Amino acid sequence: MRLSQMLFVTLREDPAEAEIPSHKLLLRAGYIRRIGSGIYAYLPLMWRVLKKISQIVREEMDATGAQECMLTQLQPAELWRESGRWDTYTKAEGIMFALVDRQNRELGLGPTHEEVITTIARDMIRSYRQLPLNLYQIQTKFRDEIRPRFGLMRGREFIMKDAYSFDVDEAGLKQTYHKMHDAYCNILRRAGLAFRAVDADSGAIGGSGSQEFMVLAEAGEDEVLYTEDGQYAANVEKAVSLPLDAEPSPFQTYEKRDTPQTPTIDSLCQFLKCSPTQILKNVLYQVTYDNGMNVLVLVSIRGDQDVNEVKLQNELVRVADQYGGKAVIALEVPNEDAQKKWATKPLPLGYIAPDLSDDYIQSSKTLAPKFYRLVDQTAVELTNFVTGSNESDRHVVGANWGDPFTLPQTVVDVRTARKGDRAIHDPTQLLQSARGIEIGHIFQLGTKYSIAMGATYTNEQGEDVPLVMGCYGVGVSRMAQAAVEQSYDKDGIIWPVAIAPYHAIVVIPNVSDADQVAAAERLYAELNQAGVETLLDDRTERAGVKFKDADLVGIPYRIVTGRSLQQGKVEVVKRASRESQEIAIDEVVATVKQWVADALS
Ligand code: ATP
Ligand code: MG
Repeated sequence: MRLSQMLFVTLREDPAEAEIPSHKLLLRAGYIRRIGSGIYAYLPLMWRVLKKISQIVREEMDATGAQECMLTQLQPAELWRESGRWDTYTKAEGIMFALVDRQNRELGLGPTHEEVITTIARDMIRSYRQLPLNLYQIQTKFRDEIRPRFGLMRGREFIMKDAYSFDVDEAGLKQTYHKMHDAYCNILRRAGLAFRAVDADSGAIGGSGSQEFMVLAEAGEDEVLYTEDGQYAANVEKAVSLPLDAEPSPFQTYEKRDTPQTPTIDSLCQFLKCSPTQILKNVLYQVTYDNGMNVLVLVSIRGDQDVNEVKLQNELVRVADQYGGKAVIALEVPNEDAQKKWATKPLPLGYIAPDLSDDYIQSSKTLAPKFYRLVDQTAVELTNFVTGSNESDRHVVGANWGDPFTLPQTVVDVRTARKGDRAIHDPTQLLQSARGIEIGHIFQLGTKYSIAMGATYTNEQGEDVPLVMGCYGVGVSRMAQAAVEQSYDKDGIIWPVAIAPYHAIVVIPNVSDADQVAAAERLYAELNQAGVETLLDDRTERAGVKFKDADLVGIPYRIVTGRSLQQGKVEVVKRASRESQEIAIDEVVATVKQWVADALS
């Protein structure tokens, strides 16, 4: 392609809308254009990158035996009602764009395709002889993200590869899942990205085991905790660990003490000269279920630890049916306004004890009459601890479970693991922390959707049993940007060769020099013929502008038909290392072709 004939517009300045380097660079280099909030057009260079990533994904999926198909983006609400996710996706998470057609039928714009694929499987899979089966598609997804940002990283319209597998049993699913895990590693390795597979929370998609594939980069929205021995890596949302041991309590006898102005753990520790590990912290949450029911939740946890709201939410989903609900619509620490709606009297905030009386809760149809009391594992072992007294400016010390407090029935792990904690598999290993961009997520769904939607098959014994499912997503457009976030310098993008829009760019420093033009035209034609995807910068711009643009756009190899032509040579520069060499014109094609081949192998 000739730059003179391309839609090729680069910007010298960083666009104000962009916060992270990859977003700035993709806008500046003319890869993407913002059309609306979280909505981006992929310009010709970007489309080539996306097609390359898609092709790598396609080849690796095909190699596992999965088959490509194309599912519908318009999805009837009935299907989502059958799975029980319509309200969660349109109201609770509110992530699905929903619409009403002219016949007054409700539809959603596909944020994911479990419902559509399960309805197909229900109709078409009859026998164990048809299994295992794995179907995938590469398609635009729609999600009304609360905070669309960072360009393609979190768009409201983006490209995903999603695959759905069907197996006869859990063992079959595990095998398929394993194959997909390996395929994902291949995809990321081939695309030239540094990544880590981590244990993950399964979120609203549901199911048992899941792993995320994280591209490591400072701008990542996720925190990954891992051990140096390579045995453990997890998203902080899911991570488990051994906290530091609690220090023995100095308070041997139970008593109530004046502790003026100590509503925080820090202020209390200073006042009582004790360690936060000797304190029992009681954190109040308010959860709203999809049936409108509100429950006040009191979580008791060791003072030096923080509540992990993802783990807490999972626990609250687990007990949803006790409150007549299915899904959690909101989970928050109730602020003053929220408290006014249910509290019979002002709460002793900062001084709450685990036995805070249920009398604080007004009687109401939409309020559970009692606190749901939970205790985190870290707090179960505490003895002679310090905690609130349910009175402002006073705490109790030397308290114990059994006397005077009753240990809540539900013991859970709702603590946030953190850097420096000891690993469970080997306590000599300490957790390290890194930032990651989630590129892929693979799930063992099990029978959640097949049971809900009645997708069964006849097994070898002639019984009708639910299909065992898995699902596997890769953010194709997010991956393109993550590659940039992982690989750039002050001058621009440095594409891995495998996903660069073009392999090489031939730059003519001076288009009014006939020799330069002739040599460039020849190389341009021969390189393309040899399978080296090549651009020709034949614009009537100054050489300096052309070099800057080539650096910005990030094409791996730059060939300049400049001064050295007189010696029958051209300058060839590698974008990544900036290494420059003069190569005889006749050898350029073979040399660059070899470099590309080496980079792709
Ligand atoms: P996140 O936690 O980042 O919102 P998710 O858990 O919602 O991601 P999945 O539903 O597992 O994501 O989707 C599979 C993949 O699709 C993700 O791993 C990610 O790469 C990509 N993806 C998800 N949401 C977006 C988005 N809004 N913009 C671009 N890519 C996305
Ligand atoms: Mg999401």
